[in-house]
Amino acid sequence: MKTHRKALFNSELCVMNYVLKKNVMAKTLIEDLDLGKFAEEISKAYPSKIAKKRLKSMVVNDPDSIPQIQANVRTIPGIITQRGCTYAGCKGVVLGPTRDIINITHGPIGCGFYSWLTRRNQTRADKPEMENFIPYSFSTDIQDSNIVFGGEEKLKQAIREACQLFKPKGIAIFSTCPVGLIGDDVHRVARQMKEEFPGVNIFGFSCEGYRGVSQSAGHHIANNGLYKNLIGNNDNYVRKHKYAINVLGEYNIGGDAFAIDTLFEKIGVDIVATMSGNSTLEQFETAHTADFSLVMCHRSINYVAEMLETSFGIPWAKANFIGAEATAKTLRKVGQYFGDQKLIDRIEVVIAEEMVAVKTAIAQARAKTEGKTAMLFVGGSRAHHYQELFTELGMETLVAGYEFGHRDDYEGRRVIPSIKVDADSRNIEEITVYPDPTRFKPRKTEEELAQLKEAFDIEFNDYKGIMKDMKKGTLVVDDLSHHEMEKLILKYKPDVFCAGIKEKYVVQKMGIPMKQLHNYDNGGPYAAFEGAINFYKDIEMIACSTIFKQMKAPWEREDVVEAEYVFN
Ligand code: SF4
Repeated sequence: MKTHRKALFNSELCVMNYVLKKNVMAKTLIEDLDLGKFAEEISKAYPSKIAKKRLKSMVVNDPDSIPQIQANVRTIPGIITQRGCTYAGCKGVVLGPTRDIINITHGPIGCGFYSWLTRRNQTRADKPEMENFIPYSFSTDIQDSNIVFGGEEKLKQAIREACQLFKPKGIAIFSTCPVGLIGDDVHRVARQMKEEFPGVNIFGFSCEGYRGVSQSAGHHIANNGLYKNLIGNNDNYVRKHKYAINVLGEYNIGGDAFAIDTLFEKIGVDIVATMSGNSTLEQFETAHTADFSLVMCHRSINYVAEMLETSFGIPWAKANFIGAEATAKTLRKVGQYFGDQKLIDRIEVVIAEEMVAVKTAIAQARAKTEGKTAMLFVGGSRAHHYQELFTELGMETLVAGYEFGHRDDYEGRRVIPSIKVDADSRNIEEITVYPDPTRFKPRKTEEELAQLKEAFDIEFNDYKGIMKDMKKGTLVVDDLSHHEMEKLILKYKPDVFCAGIKEKYVVQKMGIPMKQLHNYDNGGPYAAFEGAINFYKDIEMIACSTIFKQMKAPWEREDVVEAEYVFN
């Protein structure tokens, strides 16, 4: 054990020395950039009222005195946003990666297709005979006549067909904008069809695209639906190991959840439910039997984590499996939580073993990536998590922000009581959760949680937000607009820009390497130690490539004759 601890200490020392070196360099770099002044310049293109509003969503960071940022407010019409719709958050993000629930989109085919597999959520049934519906895109494909005469009958017919053809255990129905506007009641249809097919759990979501500011509203609606219709339905989870956890807000993009599963199998801890990468109906139904919940994407799943705590007494803590050091920290957190020396020792052995390959991969990649810069605009937590990997690569994140984050994702959960509840938030059903009369069993007493916090700095039921971990002087931008993106790229020319498919080709045409962090392009997994190694290699390849800089648009290669309009 001593050898392993020493090896690990050396690896941590190596990273620490490197971070110190980077900090000295970064200080000069970021100060020189004066990102705050540039944010003001960017906003000059907007009418003054709009500029004033946008500047509230672009703040210069100070981790010691975290500034307030405007977030989770409606995008100003006319501004090209990165955001998706509420339906996309509910169906595409939270329920979409589940493999044995049939997800029926009640709406036009475009909504269903747009939310189907574009994030590369991978699924793998345990046995070949087990269900895996993810290769199908189920939709009622409503037409003009359904808009005029109503679409409920078509939905019922779709559910009948699905039950007869696939014999599923569960069916989820998702409302899109048009069916919300014509008043189709998916919940009534679900109740009626449940009577017709008593063995099938059928439930609906009022997640019409227009319901919220972004996909974030859809996450909340999905969380409520999971709690009302699935969680707690089955007490019969059979443990393989002594300890069992949930991994919440992990969607198995590029196989991330598979990498996390492998890691927990190595340390000998059960994952009862992953929400919702490669998940099953049974996982949702038995999640309340776990001892501890780890929360990856805070924004999309914190409501479920809270409900599991209130109803069943399962504490949760923020976790991060993106980055080798972050993964090691999360594993240690699990060991400290259970306080079992055998488990703690096993975790240290696994970390030490995994770090050997990690160190080699970092050394190889960092020789080329050190000193390069990145900008990240994705999701709820991804723009935060991936900064860990860039730090390990010696790269500096200059600007970052979320598409659908709330103030607590930026500033930390401490600001939640001060967040104003507006009309958009009121659109989302608030459900009241009480301790389960027979199954509420606090896994740890208040005193035990306080001791763990004191001894190991484990923040239970808390998230400190992205700003705490970003350097002083960096720029934080919520709901980045297309105009702002172009200006930032032209001025600062980052070595890698991370966002989604809507930005990808524009960024590449500007000569900047682009990495999608919603679906990883064709890469991944990027989670856990094996994922970190994949990421180092991919980023080394992308950030050090000169191919994009060689590209010239046709008008840049040819002589152009410039002319001006002459008005008489
Ligand atoms: S905004 Fe409405 S119509 Fe568009 S994809 Fe979302 S649900 Fe469908």
